[in-house]
Amino acid sequence: MRSRLKRLYTASGLLEAYLLRDYLDAEGIGTLVFNEHSVGAVGELPCNEALPELWVRDEAHYERARALVLAYERRSESRASRTCPGCAEANPGTFDICWRCGTILDS
Ligand SMILES: [Zn+2]
Repeated sequence: MRSRLKRLYTASGLLEAYLLRDYLDAEGIGTLVFNEHSVGAVGELPCNEALPELWVRDEAHYERARALVLAYERRSESRASRTCPGCAEANPGTFDICWRCGTILDS
């Protein structure tokens, strides 16, 4: 039986899309990021119609992926983003190490 793609989430930016992709990948759920090349560098405001979208590769994983995304959103809301002391990159509050350089975010 062929697996079917299903749209999971529209991210607010490319960074969030990649974070969620890695997060779901760690849970064994394969995803694809669409619109990633239509968005400018991190920090620029993307056009509304070109926001990155996260799609699950197999819709059988959709329900579980959706639950993980909702849990991710709840954690994001409860913890403000943190700036990396090593490279000054903004990291979601859910992250304990910098996504970019690996510095521990212990603030
Ligand atoms: Zn860093």
